[in-house]
Amino acid sequence: MIPIRPTFATLVQGTLMGGALGDAFGYLVEFDSLADIAAKYGPSGLVDLSQSGAPAHFSDDTQMTLYTLDGLLDVLEWANDGVGADVNACQWLAYLRWLKTQGVPAPSHAPEQPPRWIDAQSVLHHQRHPGNACITGLATGEMGTVARPVNPDSKGCGTVMRSAPYGLLPNVDAETVYKMSSDAASLTHGHPAARQSSGAFSWLIHRLVIDGLPLREAAVSARDRAAAEPAADPELMARLDAALALSAPPLGTHDGAPLSGDSLTDALGLGWVAEEALAVALYCVLATEASSVSPVEHFLAAIRLAANHSGDSDSTASIAGNILGALYGEAALPPSWMTMAEAPQLVRHLGAEFIKLTTGQ
Ligand SMILES: [Mg+2]
Repeated sequence: MIPIRPTFATLVQGTLMGGALGDAFGYLVEFDSLADIAAKYGPSGLVDLSQSGAPAHFSDDTQMTLYTLDGLLDVLEWANDGVGADVNACQWLAYLRWLKTQGVPAPSHAPEQPPRWIDAQSVLHHQRHPGNACITGLATGEMGTVARPVNPDSKGCGTVMRSAPYGLLPNVDAETVYKMSSDAASLTHGHPAARQSSGAFSWLIHRLVIDGLPLREAAVSARDRAAAEPAADPELMARLDAALALSAPPLGTHDGAPLSGDSLTDALGLGWVAEEALAVALYCVLATEASSVSPVEHFLAAIRLAANHSGDSDSTASIAGNILGALYGEAALPPSWMTMAEAPQLVRHLGAEFIKLTTGQ
């Protein structure tokens, strides 16, 4: 039987919503150690979104991802009017509008764009632990570039976790996606690892969604693109190589189960910085693929692994959710989780705008 490839539309919506669900799940335990998680949710840890017992809020990861998408919508709207807008400038304007949602004014010398549809969505105005470098980098009012970085030493995962939408662009080659994503990382974070991790993540999403590569092949391709960088960040390469090696079947753990909890974060890092967040998320998705019999089962296994550790659980689970959605489309989204998701119609509306502007449908 020839497998039916998911449609572009469902891959777009799955990437966005998969990230939002992973983010909401991980956000329940973002600042908890493994011991805290066990104390709150029992020895098996956090297993299901329903354990929150309250509305499952997404965090700054999803809020910023949607603003990345809105920056691209702005570019696409200009393009449909026959105007070639500067992608990174549109992205900067979008993130400056995001800054305002967090109650932080930009200095008077920063450009100010008229409000767009997204800016009126109140659910995006809640402060859900936005990353420090994202706030301070934008609050300088200076457009960070690779040559003139803001926050030159910052490599927090605030870059990677917002960068899936670049990978969704059709009719653009992977190299262009890599550049867009890494240039946008420089708007807030100056460290090369932040740029390169974002570029590699968007590249991975693009290889899955646009090129339809199998998961491991896409992951190896992203690793190889990162390695091709003239000054490839050694930490990023070490983490990506470890994620690929440790997730290769058969899994090397004593019982054949994936690394989890402390052994996961001991091997790949806690995920607070860009390259660790990408590596942990990628490992969780790769290591659970072979043992999962359906997209939903794969999603649940990977997201549980990605959230139940002492590190940056919402970002690692959000990135893992993006990857799973890019692999399967909406088939990855657990139906019961969708009933608990925050503002799914908002995510869906922005996804539909993107699909319309890129495909005309
Ligand atoms: Mg967060």
